[in-house]
Amino acid sequence: MSGVAESTVSFQSRFARELPELAVPWQAEEAPEPRLLVLNEALAGELGLDLAFLRSPEGARFLVGNDVPPDAAPVAQAYAGHQFGGYSPLLGDGRALLLGELPLQGSSSDGDRLRDVHLKGSGRTPFARAGDGRAVVGPMLREYLVSEAMHELGIPTTRSLAVVATGRPVRRDTMLPGAVLARVAASHLRVGTFQYARATDNPDLLRRLADHAIARHYAAAAQAGNPYLALFRAVVEAQASLVAQWMLVGFVHGVMNTDNMTISGETIDYGPCAFMDAFNPAAVYSSIDTGGRYAYANQPVVAEWNLARLAESLLPLINEDQEKAVEPAVEVLGEFRRRYSDAWTAGMASKLGLAGHPAGSPEAAEVSQLVDGVIALLRDGPVDYTQFFRRLGDAALGNTGPARGMVLDLAAFDAWAERWRAMAPDASLMDRVNPVYIPRNHLVEEALDAATAGDIGPFQRLVAVLSEPYRRRPGLERYEEAAPESFGDYLTFCGT
Ligand code: AMP
Ligand code: MG
Repeated sequence: MSGVAESTVSFQSRFARELPELAVPWQAEEAPEPRLLVLNEALAGELGLDLAFLRSPEGARFLVGNDVPPDAAPVAQAYAGHQFGGYSPLLGDGRALLLGELPLQGSSSDGDRLRDVHLKGSGRTPFARAGDGRAVVGPMLREYLVSEAMHELGIPTTRSLAVVATGRPVRRDTMLPGAVLARVAASHLRVGTFQYARATDNPDLLRRLADHAIARHYAAAAQAGNPYLALFRAVVEAQASLVAQWMLVGFVHGVMNTDNMTISGETIDYGPCAFMDAFNPAAVYSSIDTGGRYAYANQPVVAEWNLARLAESLLPLINEDQEKAVEPAVEVLGEFRRRYSDAWTAGMASKLGLAGHPAGSPEAAEVSQLVDGVIALLRDGPVDYTQFFRRLGDAALGNTGPARGMVLDLAAFDAWAERWRAMAPDASLMDRVNPVYIPRNHLVEEALDAATAGDIGPFQRLVAVLSEPYRRRPGLERYEEAAPESFGDYLTFCGT
């Protein structure tokens, strides 16, 4: 046991202590030769972790879970979940461990200032079923890259502290280098965690779980007349806002199973996710989503469906009399559509530089028509979603050509643009909300291929580009370009 780990890292074990029924004490598998591939220094600083330690051989052993402080109590978390609509009563962390919680630096020890430190790829657990408990370098670097890009875009998400190669080859289609991702989250409470607790028929456990969620994320709910209904409302609001933000940047999560949806409202579990290039409501990137259940345009309805599963799990807490619990739960669930639609419409108005018109005003009605109009233009032909909005920012300053050149129906564009410019769009607002740089699929693949072959340089450069997504910098032109034709249709694979 390393003296450094002991002296610098002091985990709380709040989840393990308060919810032992959901926490199986477990140890990480021994990694033969841990080697740090990437470290998030800023995030380490926020957690008060010592950089010199994390960069040392002991630090690498810590980051794969092989050298944890003696007072830490790593656990595999139990949860259930609907996967592609089918219910699995027992999923849980098959290849992951929660090391414990750390407080954000310079903060009180309030629940919402705690961050879970979690390892993905740390070996088989009692929840592993047929899985090998392992993860490989490419997909773990991919989660690191995309989650950090989401964070820099301003979208709530779990974060990535480090990726460490284990030195062990892992069998997939071919043999691939193994890795562990150290992930940081407001918590790992999922809709599926509540489904699991509900299915145990232990009302005390369900209540402790809900109280834990309130303390970690929604302290104000504790003061409400019905704290558990207030918890549900808070999750509905957080998810409506989150999914609207995904839609506004063209993000497709890819595997919105109920076990991959957080109570905190953070994006979690980056598997077969991707950003759209050309606008396409039917965009699907996951190789296993053959029915398109989790296609781009379906994400709001799927979120609402998942929240209905959360409501079912919470019913016994909302009212002891089930009959009386259903009505308020349905009413709160009903707020999702309006919340989502308000968030999306406001976000689209900002993307068009037309924020600030009060709802119900004639101006707001015109904005709403302009939003419909821009979506119709995008639907009409293959238009790169991210580039188009950024070029519209130039159009707001009078340089209409670049945006106009992207659409097929020029007459429709001209008619739309005339109405739009009559509203005096705010170009500087547009440049603050329309990213220049997103993790484009061809750039991500290029960086991961190089990293898997041993060159982390392109990955580090891409992370740096994406750390300031809204500020165009000279020399980075290739990072804002669409994929070359030769890149073809993009498919991603989960369970990796
Ligand atoms: P995911 O699709 O990553 O959200 O994972 C769904 C479930 O499968 C979770 O219970 C995971 O812990 C489990 N799982 C995924 N990959 C593995 C693996 N290689 N070994 C063990 N369990 C896994
Ligand atoms: Mg998952």
